[in-house]
Amino acid sequence: MKIISSPEEMQKQARLLIQSGEDISFVPTMGYLHAGHVSLMKIAREYADTVVVSIFVNPSQFGPNEDLAAYPRDFERDEKLCREAGVDFLFYPNSENMYLDDHSLWLSEEALSTVLCGASRHGHFRGVCTIVAKLLNIVQPDFMVLGEKDAQQLRVLRRMVRDLNFHVEIIAAPTVREADGVAMSSRNKYLTPAERKEAVCLFQSLEKAKALFAGGERGAEKIKAAVRTVIKATSGKVDYIEIVDDETLQPVQTLEKPALLALAVKFSGARLIDNTVLR
Ligand code: AMP
Repeated sequence: MKIISSPEEMQKQARLLIQSGEDISFVPTMGYLHAGHVSLMKIAREYADTVVVSIFVNPSQFGPNEDLAAYPRDFERDEKLCREAGVDFLFYPNSENMYLDDHSLWLSEEALSTVLCGASRHGHFRGVCTIVAKLLNIVQPDFMVLGEKDAQQLRVLRRMVRDLNFHVEIIAAPTVREADGVAMSSRNKYLTPAERKEAVCLFQSLEKAKALFAGGERGAEKIKAAVRTVIKATSGKVDYIEIVDDETLQPVQTLEKPALLALAVKFSGARLIDNTVLR
């Protein structure tokens, strides 16, 4: 596995691979890797001979009061996991070489980014779109594997790739969960032991919603109320519980087409998100 920090060097290596006829699969991450990330790497391998993983805690997607400085990092462990997963290139740039002092160009998606996490994390998706556009220009992959866990990010990036004609196919990977159902996340580390136990409420509330939907319930308010009841029995504070059209991310009242049920819950240690598509 080659570890590359320089964007120019990574781009040069990518050009050489493309010229020699190799396909590239790409998995962008912020590190502190877990089995969810590793599952993305395995999927990436199914699509191409060369797998590139990036680790970069992107400052521009964190708000001023968010957890940028505290975001967990452990490069040695990450490097080992990538080697074990058979990754070919680990791209590990730093803020200085990704954002020059006079960096002045930003990418904003203006519809899907305004709701859900975008409503409470201003500028978040502008940071995500900008960094992923940069990474795509550097790594030049044929495939990019993204997790369904970050449902809105997946949809925003699909829109970016479509609207700006990026030459990449996005592959969506299912959410990997702990044994009790909690979605794996680098941020779970910051939950207190009691909160970690309570964190299963997100998964349980989604299961409850799925059961209601399977039983014929189509009223969004009723389903959201049931979700809220499950969360309210814990110390978690609801940031949002929304049922939105799976394509437009606009709120729906009656579930007739596939709808995304997404929620964000704040615990003292971390803000957690989870989702499911009701179809
Ligand atoms: P992150 O490092 O949290 O920015 O995530 C990097 C990629 O891994 C994103 O595409 C995430 O959606 C994906 N991911 C994070 N957690 C999981 C999980 N539990 N299961 C599957 N994919 C995940």
